Amino acid sequence: MTEFTIAQERKVVTSIPGPKSKELHERRRKAVSNGVGAALPVYIEKANGAILVDVDGNQFIDLGSGIGVVSIGHTNQGVIDAVSHQVAQLTHTLFTVTPYEQYVEVCELLNKHTPGNFEKRSALFNSGSEAVENAVKFARKFTRKPAIAVFDHGYHGRTNLTMAMNFKAAPYANGFGPLASSVYHVPMSYPFRDPEGMTGEQAAERAIVYMEKHIGAEDLAAIVIEPVQGEGGFITPAPGFLTAITKWAKANGVLIVADEVQAGVARTGQWFASEFEAGFEPDLFTIAKGIAGGMVISAVTGRADIMDAAHPGGIGGTFGGNPVSAAAAVSVLKQIEAGGVLEAAQRIEATLMPRLLELKAKYPVVGDVRGRGAMIAIEFVEAGSKKPNKEITDKLIAHCHQNGVLVLNAGIHYNTLRFLPPLVITDELLNDAIDVLEAGIKAHS
Ligand SMILES: *Cc1c(COP(=O)(O)O)cnc(C)c1O
Repeated sequence: MTEFTIAQERKVVTSIPGPKSKELHERRRKAVSNGVGAALPVYIEKANGAILVDVDGNQFIDLGSGIGVVSIGHTNQGVIDAVSHQVAQLTHTLFTVTPYEQYVEVCELLNKHTPGNFEKRSALFNSGSEAVENAVKFARKFTRKPAIAVFDHGYHGRTNLTMAMNFKAAPYANGFGPLASSVYHVPMSYPFRDPEGMTGEQAAERAIVYMEKHIGAEDLAAIVIEPVQGEGGFITPAPGFLTAITKWAKANGVLIVADEVQAGVARTGQWFASEFEAGFEPDLFTIAKGIAGGMVISAVTGRADIMDAAHPGGIGGTFGGNPVSAAAAVSVLKQIEAGGVLEAAQRIEATLMPRLLELKAKYPVVGDVRGRGAMIAIEFVEAGSKKPNKEITDKLIAHCHQNGVLVLNAGIHYNTLRFLPPLVITDELLNDAIDVLEAGIKAHS
């Protein structure tokens, strides 16, 4: 049992946002770029487990984990101890100047726990986008080919290359071009919206024809795919899709990069979401969000021959694999190794799924419930159709926020609610949050 230092309960004591948050938000307006958004402008003072406490004393149930980052729980004691110790020992040398053990240990742990029975290497960076950028560098260097295929509804980041890899232009790319070239968008398997009865193999065939005709395998270095799409609204491809894509890629000298930045590191109830389909065999993995309890670190892990194809000095960066972040990652990875964390994600699915499916049976605006482990989403539609219903989604998010439940939007039509709770969340809190959501659906549908 996790010992909590803040009572794991929802508490709303002011209007949301409260007066102190409003004051801070005014200060922010004058100091922070307008380009940086704010989903819920309550200013958070502290947190523990699955509870956020704001400057006005309100307590929110966190169903976002900072977008799947603090999966191990807010202010996890192992992370606090590892960071406190490390920050007093050594905060920076630059690993490519004079190395340190923590970097090597993170790489060893990732090599051990990523899927694939082959020799592996890793390299560490700062953000998910940076990991994706570097996976593309490794793939191009190894294959000596330029093109990259990505999937509809996918999201890969906000840097110049990754902007071009996202499905949505708004808000990620509009006005920020020119975008990087040699990036091709391919149809994804989206069971809720594909033609009725379309199998994973058929959806893969649709994507493969597109890759053969529009790109050509002789120019295609890698296919980059999220095994469960994050920002796209937790779209989980039909069974057989990832296997058929893998078969084609292997037969055509095309690498597969699994973008596990959101779905990886225990979130789905396995170490990596790629493990759910045995025939899916990525060559490289990009890893970030949930790896270090909120500390800043990301990784590319994969086949040794690909990772070693890059020349010395070609890969790196000033802060990548920082000692303090690396110490936090070692703590998180070892806690997952010790047991109980994957099971916690599975327990969350077992609690959430039946309740959400019950909502689907009761309310025709609930179109689809999907996802894996502690990565579950509801897609809202207009009753009696599959037309995306952004309006009710907005109302429900506002309703949840007013009542002390932090939920996040997702999906290309902004009509999906996603649940990414810290894995230490109690069943009581989960049920309380779903009660709040259901009251909202009842009131607004
Ligand atoms: C968040 C995310 C990224 C980008 O990570 P940043 O740390 O925000 O740069 C890339 N890929 C996926 C799947 C993500 O969810």
